[in-house]
Amino acid sequence: MNNKCPVCDTEYSQADLQFCPECCWELVFIPSDSSDSLKAWFEKKRIVFENALNDLRDAERTIKEKAVATAKLEKDKKQLLTEIEKIEGEIDKLKKEWEELNQKTPVNNERLRELEKLEKELPKIIQEITQLTNSLPDGFNLTDLNDLESLTELNRIFSQY
Ligand SMILES: [Zn+2]
Repeated sequence: MNNKCPVCDTEYSQADLQFCPECCWELVFIPSDSSDSLKAWFEKKRIVFENALNDLRDAERTIKEKAVATAKLEKDKKQLLTEIEKIEGEIDKLKKEWEELNQKTPVNNERLRELEKLEKELPKIIQEITQLTNSLPDGFNLTDLNDLESLTELNRIFSQY
């Protein structure tokens, strides 16, 4: 006949077992003719053990859940670190490009100043061209640059800039 652990209901056939193989409850046999106070004390001990066992199982479950959550966080962290590494690589690349661009900037600034200078002088150039156009003989077509004299004069004006 199989016996049952009074705490976790695990059945066992070995008669000489001292402790439950599942919950470690001490398998003490209390004769049915034992005193009520002994039976009551034993029941109280069993309840305390059962409560402690439930607390232990709860704690084990919590630890297991936390371990799973921690593993997920570790995975997320790894992914984030990979992302950060990738972004840092891109930042380094952009920094290099920025530095290269900055090395070319003096040339760009020089060109910009030339353009600004030309822009400022543009009204004067237009004025000179207008004057020149007005001084052209009647019927002279400005687009007809075969007129060597006019072409030379235009070249003279433009060569100043
Ligand atoms: Zn048991």
